[in-house]
Amino acid sequence: MPAAAYLETLNAEQRLAVEHGVGSTAGPLLVIAGAGSGKTNTLAHRVAHLIVNRADPRRILLMTFSRRAASEMMRRAERVVARALGGAGGGLADSLPWAGTFHGVGARLIRDYAETIGLDPQFTIHDREDSADLMNLARHELGLSKTAKRFPLKGTCLAIYSRAVNAQAPVEQVLGQAFPWCAAWSAELKALFAAYVEAKQRQNVLDYDDLLLYWAQMAQEPSIAADLGARFDHVLVDEYQDTNRLQASILLALKPDGRGLTVVGDDAQSIYSFRAATVRNILDFPKSFSPPAKIVTLDRNYRSTQPILEAANAVIGLSAERFTKNLWSDRRSDRRPRLVSVRDEGEQARYVAEAVLENREAGQKLKAQAALFRTSSHSAPLELELTRRNIPFVKFGGLKFLDAAHVKDLLALLRFAQNPRDRVAGFRVMQLLPGVGPATTARTLDAVVAAPDPVAALVAAASPPRAAQDWAAFVEAVASLTRGQAGWPAEVGLARRWYEPHLERVHDDATVRAADLLQLEQIASGYPSRERFLTELTLDPPDAASDESGPPHLDEDYFILSTIHSAKGQEWRSVFVLNGVDGCMPSDLGVGTSAEIEEERRLLYVAMTRAKDDLRIMLPQRFFVHQQAARGDRHVYASRTRFITAAMLDKFESCAWPPASAESAARRPLAPVDIGARMRAMWR
Ligand code: ATP
Ligand code: MG
Repeated sequence: MPAAAYLETLNAEQRLAVEHGVGSTAGPLLVIAGAGSGKTNTLAHRVAHLIVNRADPRRILLMTFSRRAASEMMRRAERVVARALGGAGGGLADSLPWAGTFHGVGARLIRDYAETIGLDPQFTIHDREDSADLMNLARHELGLSKTAKRFPLKGTCLAIYSRAVNAQAPVEQVLGQAFPWCAAWSAELKALFAAYVEAKQRQNVLDYDDLLLYWAQMAQEPSIAADLGARFDHVLVDEYQDTNRLQASILLALKPDGRGLTVVGDDAQSIYSFRAATVRNILDFPKSFSPPAKIVTLDRNYRSTQPILEAANAVIGLSAERFTKNLWSDRRSDRRPRLVSVRDEGEQARYVAEAVLENREAGQKLKAQAALFRTSSHSAPLELELTRRNIPFVKFGGLKFLDAAHVKDLLALLRFAQNPRDRVAGFRVMQLLPGVGPATTARTLDAVVAAPDPVAALVAAASPPRAAQDWAAFVEAVASLTRGQAGWPAEVGLARRWYEPHLERVHDDATVRAADLLQLEQIASGYPSRERFLTELTLDPPDAASDESGPPHLDEDYFILSTIHSAKGQEWRSVFVLNGVDGCMPSDLGVGTSAEIEEERRLLYVAMTRAKDDLRIMLPQRFFVHQQAARGDRHVYASRTRFITAAMLDKFESCAWPPASAESAARRPLAPVDIGARMRAMWR
């Protein structure tokens, strides 16, 4: 039989991986290879190949690091299947593989098995901020915030807890390795974590980490493990270098002998150790099974031009420890990546905005271009510049629409209706009512959480005398939402109408915020139920948009701003890496252990390897550093990142902007003006 046409688009190694056993007994497979070598493409083809060879799509589980990445991969797979099987019967529309993030898939499975594991299936999910609030509540209740002076703040407590859970490590070890200044508090922290876990259970809420932890616990229970493992013939994971111990333990419990398991990744792109990810997972994968996993390596890069690749290889070449080999590309080009010196971040923003427009003039879509940065706040000057010039953009990995106070308020009401034991949600909504203080709220919630029928307890609760009317409206809204009277998604409108008077009381810019709420209603109508809406929104919020009218429609053209972390796996024709200077890459925070420095080097490698044709690393000579409150913010004189050494400069083209002559022309001496005198005159 002639090979299917889709196999012929692959190179020999990719094909080996795609064709590696299609039955559920196929042995474990690891694809480990550098950036742009087609790992994700190979995984998508493998999913398609399995389906073409009659694997049941519903018994395939595909996991990636973002829902966006998962749906992109499913689209690729679907196209391949459609082409291979012809239009008829080719679509995956009615029997889709399970695709998503570990957390998203965990949430679905936990809900499926909720009753078996003694969990109320109506559970709600806390995002990081809610979790920190609950941790804080527990901290107060234990008196740790008062008696224990300088006890770690709520965010630190949560970070320690989360790290211990994800790394599957004892608290003492986490403290020693990552939080040495908190080491004296290990006993109190353990008591706090016990109280936190108890509070979550009482209130029927799960935090992000629980979505993995419950799943891992389920997988350790032999009867459930067998059932779970038997649900999926094939489990495939992308970006495996950024998984943590807990995620690895879930995979091993699902497929103890590795049969049907495929993982792909690149150790040189491991950038999530601050979330307890460990590159050991990918390096240890082959030996976890007997016989060991088959290893496929790829060495041809299809993404970038050879000069870009040479520069990226040089940067990663100096890293201490690395498994994957250097890549090659047959995409020739005369254009080396550029190191662009500019005066400061303002000039950097102007340079990028102008270059983006020039590229568009030359026929490159805005969408084919991206600016990447270390930390979300680094894009602020560029955001202003783009807005000023009316260049539409979308920002990934930044402050999320859903983090806005008013959006969280409305969601809190929906969450409280979904699960009236969710104390953090209840607290947030009740505090919106004028005349209802924290003490009344706490008392009411205590009664609600303890009652067998929490909504009845809420209805029966005494109305606070100074808020009778608002209270009645609130109780009525919760009751009708829980009864599901309005139906989905109409009830979001009901919640919004309840909330609007409060919005107007609290915020001056209520009209702008009201538009966000309408947009939320719009987003809600895309989900089948309240439960799915709340779960998916908490796990994978829509990306922040450049203006309050929401993300541009998909068919519009917009420039991309993204943190490097969120740019993982993606590619653009032109990439601008902002602030390629010491103090930023590596960041001041990262200047610590050599392991941290190594991670920063990999981060730069990830950024550089996103570029297909045109890579520019920006070097502002002056750079604004946000400091701890004590030291104050300041400008520092910055120098090129230490990861690009003098010996590597021949891989780059160095230039300054604006060119020296233009700058001196622009700086003609101006006639002096006494502004101070004018200002004094204003008050005369
Ligand atoms: P990263 O490490 O950044 O996640 P990756 O290894 O997953 O990269 P892909 O994103 O799968 O790489 O592929 C990079 C680019 O190369 C994509 O544009 C893809 O379409 C293209 N590509 C991959 N394999 C082939 C091939 N055999 N022939 C032509 N193009 C290919
Ligand atoms: Mg990829």
